[in-house]
Amino acid sequence: AAPFDINAVRRDFPILAERVDGKQLVWFDNAATTHKPKSVIDRISYFYEHENSNIHRAAHELAARASDAYESARKKLAKFLGAASEQEIIFVRGATEGINLVAQTFGKKFIGAGDEIIVSHLEHHANIVPWQQLAVEKGAVIRVIPVDDSGQVLLDEYRKLLNSKTRLVAVTQVSNALGTIAPVHEITALAHAVGARVLIDGAQAVSHLRVNVQALDADFYVFSGHKVFGPTGIGVVYGKKALLEQLPPWQGGGNMIADVTFEHTRYQPAPARFEAGTGNIADAVGLGAAIDYVERIGLENIALYEHALLEYATHGLKSIPGVRLIGTAHEKASVASFVLARYETAEVGKALNDEGIAVRSGHHCAQPILRRFGVEATVRPSFAFYNTCEEIDRFLAVVRRLANNRK
Ligand code: PMP
Repeated sequence: AAPFDINAVRRDFPILAERVDGKQLVWFDNAATTHKPKSVIDRISYFYEHENSNIHRAAHELAARASDAYESARKKLAKFLGAASEQEIIFVRGATEGINLVAQTFGKKFIGAGDEIIVSHLEHHANIVPWQQLAVEKGAVIRVIPVDDSGQVLLDEYRKLLNSKTRLVAVTQVSNALGTIAPVHEITALAHAVGARVLIDGAQAVSHLRVNVQALDADFYVFSGHKVFGPTGIGVVYGKKALLEQLPPWQGGGNMIADVTFEHTRYQPAPARFEAGTGNIADAVGLGAAIDYVERIGLENIALYEHALLEYATHGLKSIPGVRLIGTAHEKASVASFVLARYETAEVGKALNDEGIAVRSGHHCAQPILRRFGVEATVRPSFAFYNTCEEIDRFLAVVRRLANNRK
């Protein structure tokens, strides 16, 4: 049983009542994006109906309302992540833009020829490609932490990669393809011991487990609002204040300046220095409402309930002949990646869709880790706290039928 009223929670998400070809929608594609509670949808409408303005300080009433709403969202995010100050919270489009921002500011200034950047084998392409681009530009070198057969990173191998040339360790906290929860506390402490900085990709973490950036001692932490029940087009970079102050700006334009002449520009301190132009004000406010919602349910309750869903699904999948689970680490968030013998993953995805069940089948923008397991694609159901064991039963029935059809 859920440690909260699951029926009430489900009613909070209007889209869960959708039907697909007459069948009740089952949303098991939460790792790709999550649905939005009515409170988030309403908050965005309220912004446009009552507060909409650009956020120049208090020139008029609506500007004051919009600025207050935007800055109050920033405060909520600081609290949510356990940041020391809201000045450490930069609004961006999402995790991808956040990582690119860090690559183009921190990377540009602090990573040079022969320097080393460490990533793990678990990374999403968003935490590989920006570093590769930087490495090519700077003549830096990328090193990769390998994983074991369960899909967990090998800390001993990681230790061997660290040295005085390591400038940055950029790792995901939770793998989107396998669900592995990486030991980011240890990874961060070991990086700091050689003087390297750490960026944690929290895109798959913040909706499943309580994060505290100060306890983690992360230098940078990034995530996307749309994966934590907020809108698309908004996300966050957390950066330690003292570090942000040392960084050059990224994009230039309005909002990020203190004074401009044709000869010279002085920049704002963080976070404004990194928020050039008009931002996604309404969706930042919507993300604040999503954080309120998640905090109301409680991440501890969410983690507990989702763990039960994952156990239930894993147990069910293991009982079906021909199912091979990919990613069996002990520490996992609610992702159950698998392949089914004698089926293309796309066929499984289609058969599930025919029953109204949405899963991702494909490479999940994480080709290196799938290839580590000898596959190009998996079927990936991923669960959120609004899912139920009854939904998992419907899903398992389809997979079992497919397995029986081709023995
Ligand atoms: N990192 C991870 C681990 C992800 O799962 C994703 C999204 N699948 C991203 C980064 C990129 O997020 P976005 O596309 O929202 O920028």
